[in-house]
Amino acid sequence: MEAGTAPTPLRRALGAIGGAWTHAAKFALDIALPTLCVSCREPVEGEGVCAECWTKLAFIEPPYCPRLGIPFVYDPGPDMLSMEAIANPPAYTRARAAVRYDDVARTLVHGLKYHDRTDLAPAMGRWMARAGRELLNGADMLIPVPLHWRRAWGRRFNQSGALARAIERQSEVKLRGDLLQRVRATEQQVGLTRAQRASNVQGAFQLSAEAKSQVNGRRVVLVDDVLTTGATLDACARALLRAKASQVDVLVFARVVDTPKTPI
Ligand SMILES: [Zn+2]
Repeated sequence: MEAGTAPTPLRRALGAIGGAWTHAAKFALDIALPTLCVSCREPVEGEGVCAECWTKLAFIEPPYCPRLGIPFVYDPGPDMLSMEAIANPPAYTRARAAVRYDDVARTLVHGLKYHDRTDLAPAMGRWMARAGRELLNGADMLIPVPLHWRRAWGRRFNQSGALARAIERQSEVKLRGDLLQRVRATEQQVGLTRAQRASNVQGAFQLSAEAKSQVNGRRVVLVDDVLTTGATLDACARALLRAKASQVDVLVFARVVDTPKTPI
């Protein structure tokens, strides 16, 4: 055996294990032992939430509806959909959320939305990227739900855009905040079909001809802060599908979950 050849595979193996371990440890630390509280602002170093607020955040883990991401009370096995997904299927293919919308989640969402707490976005985006791994895998672009200009005036920035930017850093899926436009719901009803009116009432999202060409054939992940009924996201998804996006998925920070769902 030549000197130096034998240890190489071992070194490689250890390197691989070490790399994997480091990644796993970093991930675990990221999730389990954050060093800055973005919720209660207790003086800790780094970023994230303090242990107390962390335990209050209700992260959504499997089992959940593969379509809507609604948590199940027990695991029904693969491909079992929630009642909601069957009864009222949305235009988007899949939805995922990092956490349930509860008191702590609301603190984070409101901080980002109304109090210029842009420092919250990186941690929230990191959790979203984790929850949306399968959606982001192979996606072509991130599109944040746009604010109407009137609402945008009252705020310095679009919180969905800030979250999408944070997810872009985590996933390397490109943020395209310029493609989807929000217009007045009641301005362009004349001359539209009934189906078009219905979608207009829901929020009226449009793409320019140029934007449509960029969305055509692409897999889009729509990003928003909170999913309640999903009507806004559904209207956005329909606009993107009309522009011939190949698939639209939805990734939000928090979703409203009434009660744990029993799969059917
Ligand atoms: Zn805290």
